[in-house]
Amino acid sequence: MPMLKIENLHVYYGGIHALKGINLTVPQGKVVSLIGANGAGKSTTLRTITSLVKPTSGKIYFQGEDITQAKTTSVIKKGITLVPEGRRVFADLTVYENLNLGAYLRQKDKNGIQKDMDKVFELFPRLKEREWQTAGTLSGGEQQMLAIGRALMSRPSVMMMDEPSLGLAPIVVRDVFNIIREIHDSGMTILLIEQNARAALKVADYGYVIETGKIVLEGPGKELADNDEVRRSYLGE
Ligand code: ATP
Repeated sequence: MPMLKIENLHVYYGGIHALKGINLTVPQGKVVSLIGANGAGKSTTLRTITSLVKPTSGKIYFQGEDITQAKTTSVIKKGITLVPEGRRVFADLTVYENLNLGAYLRQKDKNGIQKDMDKVFELFPRLKEREWQTAGTLSGGEQQMLAIGRALMSRPSVMMMDEPSLGLAPIVVRDVFNIIREIHDSGMTILLIEQNARAALKVADYGYVIETGKIVLEGPGKELADNDEVRRSYLGE
């Protein structure tokens, strides 16, 4: 059974038909990348899964359960977490406090939280070094790591990432994708949306290309990266 399945999803913002019948499947333990240009509908897809935007028609299933009408809080409680675009961390809180907030749904489980935090620090040694620093003093790359670490603290079943490489220096982008690979290796299911098509397809088991609200191509990550049209339109070749 797929972790996430989207069927024939239509979304409107007023008169703008932003998603025009999207079908997408995220199998358990896989990385699925959704690539496309600015305004193609990538963020809208994630916003609709988390119920921040309501579809006019279509279905969203999480482990076979219809969650199309579920509230955002209930979607999060089910284990669907979103690492939002723009590295949204709490600038005035410390790294420790930011991570702790990621586990706010199970605050009583102190031992479990400490264990998860140790795992996050293992994955991101630089965050351990900066545990008591406020998040606002971290570099852009470190803030992105913190945003990912905070999402991991919620013990998600599926992680959705909105443009994790946006605005980062190339060397930091490489680090972010290495981390995504490591998280994937630990068994996590990931839905990644990215304008950096090359990196997103490299890390993906399966990919989808979205153009003006429609999926126009799909296939294994490697196959898509070799596709002539993808290479011309998205890889700048
Ligand atoms: P980006 O990389 O810029 O975030 P995207 O692929 O994520 O692009 P969306 O943000 O999903 O694209 O936008 C899809 C379409 O919906 C675009 O035409 C956009 O202008 C429109 N849109 C997005 N959010 C809103 C909104 N809140 N109100 C009205 N139109 C919106």
